[in-house]
Amino acid sequence: MKDSAKDVAESETVKQSPILVLAGPTAVGKGTVIRQLCRQYPQVALSVSVTTRPPRPGEVEGVDYFFVSDVEFDRLIATDALLEWAVVHGKYRYGTPAAWVKEASTSGTPVLLELDLDGVRQVRRTLPEALFVFLAPPSWEELRQRLVGRGTEDAEEQERRLRTARIELDSVGEFDLIVTNDNLEDTVGELAHLLGVG
Ligand code: 5GP
Repeated sequence: MKDSAKDVAESETVKQSPILVLAGPTAVGKGTVIRQLCRQYPQVALSVSVTTRPPRPGEVEGVDYFFVSDVEFDRLIATDALLEWAVVHGKYRYGTPAAWVKEASTSGTPVLLELDLDGVRQVRRTLPEALFVFLAPPSWEELRQRLVGRGTEDAEEQERRLRTARIELDSVGEFDLIVTNDNLEDTVGELAHLLGVG
């Protein structure tokens, strides 16, 4: 990855296509919303992050994430290959490939990034022209039930994610827009509209 985060931030062409940064607490349905959005609007370019988290069953390298070792992640940081990166839920590192964002945005296609709060704050500084959208649950109880109900995390991990969720929900004021994920179709429609494709 040759382009540094600075190159991406300074690139004139980044301003040409909309960049939407989506964040929101665990289990709010970001994955489902993003999958549906990309299925309905294949012209939207979704950033594939790099992570040190091991793959979950069914996750595909290069589609869900680029799964890398800690050593490789250190190398990506050292070579300034990440637009932003963060430790998420106090455990694994996740980052956005800078070169990819530059390429996608200069090709004129709308770009979608899914980030945690740390990542949002970093990208706010480097790409202030991006649109920052917070995906909110209908209620805290609904969020808790969705997390427990999906059963992909053990009790300790659920607790960790709920702690992070509280912090994320307290940060809504930092976003340009809040979209409440009450109904999948409506949420996808709203995001498509913001990306200029719906
Ligand atoms: P999961 O482990 O469930 O796939 O992802 C956990 C969280 O990591 C996501 O909800 C998202 O907030 C965050 N995340 C995913 N990719 C990135 C990234 O590239 N950068 C940052 N800062 N956070 C990310």
